[in-house]
Amino acid sequence: MPSALSHAAIPLALGLGLGSRWVSRRLLVAGIVASVVPDLDVLAFRLDIAYSDAFGHRGASHSLVFAFALALIAFACAAPLRSSRRNAFLFVLVCAASHGLLDMFTNGGMGVRCGGHGPRSASSRPGG
Ligand SMILES: [Zn+2]
Repeated sequence: MPSALSHAAIPLALGLGLGSRWVSRRLLVAGIVASVVPDLDVLAFRLDIAYSDAFGHRGASHSLVFAFALALIAFACAAPLRSSRRNAFLFVLVCAASHGLLDMFTNGGMGVRCGGHGPRSASSRPGG
């Protein structure tokens, strides 16, 4: 099961593979944050939001829509990230989307919600 920090392996590997000309240090940090931030949804437990709720753990924050929203923020912040808008958008999109993909490979929890209100992935079993 990937931990919150092991999700950072994807942006780190991509940044290493693509090189600093394509991925600036600031963009790399943004990619790491984008790959980890979906798990902040565990705060939902403290707000009494059920696991199975759309905004529960592995819900909306693990969706492709959320990844796309983070990519749009990176697109808008391309200059401070010292990147082109295209590179910032694509890198953050891949990093954020990788989070849900990696979580789908786990066998714990209730799966990952791929869309805003769609079904969760079937690879996981409830209560595991
Ligand atoms: Zn997760």
